[in-house]
Amino acid sequence: MELELTGKCVLVTGGARGIGRAIVHAFAREGAVVCIFDRERAEGEALAAGLREGGAQVHFVAIDLCDQGAIAAGIARVLAVTGRLDVLVNNAGGNDAIGLAAPPDQFVESLRRNLVHYFACAHYALEPLQRTRGCIVNIGSKTATTGQGGTSGYAAAKGAIDALTREWATDLAAGGIRVNCVVPAEVITPLYERWLEQSPDPQLARKLLDRSVPLGGRTTTAEEIADTVVFLASARSSHTTGQIVFVDGGYVHLDRACTSETIHLKRATS
Ligand code: NAP
Repeated sequence: MELELTGKCVLVTGGARGIGRAIVHAFAREGAVVCIFDRERAEGEALAAGLREGGAQVHFVAIDLCDQGAIAAGIARVLAVTGRLDVLVNNAGGNDAIGLAAPPDQFVESLRRNLVHYFACAHYALEPLQRTRGCIVNIGSKTATTGQGGTSGYAAAKGAIDALTREWATDLAAGGIRVNCVVPAEVITPLYERWLEQSPDPQLARKLLDRSVPLGGRTTTAEEIADTVVFLASARSSHTTGQIVFVDGGYVHLDRACTSETIHLKRATS
């Protein structure tokens, strides 16, 4: 399938690690010029240098996305280097467990970490995206749909990202800019590993997690998320906009009878 991404300029936030890193690899494989915004300077620079050695065009910009001035300057730098912007992938974020017991200013900080930079990046990227009739792919979270408990800030941010996906798709349709959202549920990344390590029995937690996913009894890989992002950014998705696409092995929407323990029960009683 020809994705027509060769030479297109793609900006990936949080591209140094985890899902963002897989997204960077996937676009680089398609011949896109990839720019990474991340605060992890050492990993980001090493990733970009490694991909450049393989012939890809990848640039790293060290940015704390909570700094809106840095986002504006970063996008100006991307344009100075590449001359264009075709795709914005809003990906950076993390479940920071700011629950109802936290003081309200911590809730606002969580929105700054998980939501406000999605808007800021789209705001500063708008003009260049209008010139190329480009697209935006947001990374959401199952928590927007299912809740999780103990994470009001993150769930609110991700709910807003679903809403903004539809709002921006509506706003920008006349200009030919598509906006979609890819929703992971359970993907083992550095962020997720840190969370699993906090559990009393990380190995058991991992096993139960795998079993909770209907398709294949395993978590989704970062590459599976990345492939869907690339597809939605490509010419092969040219009439798809305002969509919330779950890439989660059926975790959110399928009947719980799909999970292995219930299947054993069904077999035992049939
Ligand atoms: P990750 O492994 O922590 O990678 C995220 C990258 O973004 C890290 O390099 C991180 O730096 C960077 N980053 C985060 N906030 C930043 C900021 N304010 N400024 C600059 N860089 C920043 O996370 P991930 O699991 O790949 O998650 C990526 C996206 O997927 C997030 O939006 C997350 O909500 C979503 N998601 C993930 C899962 C999952 O199962 N992994 C499930 C649902 C949704 P640091 O390491 O310094 O924080």
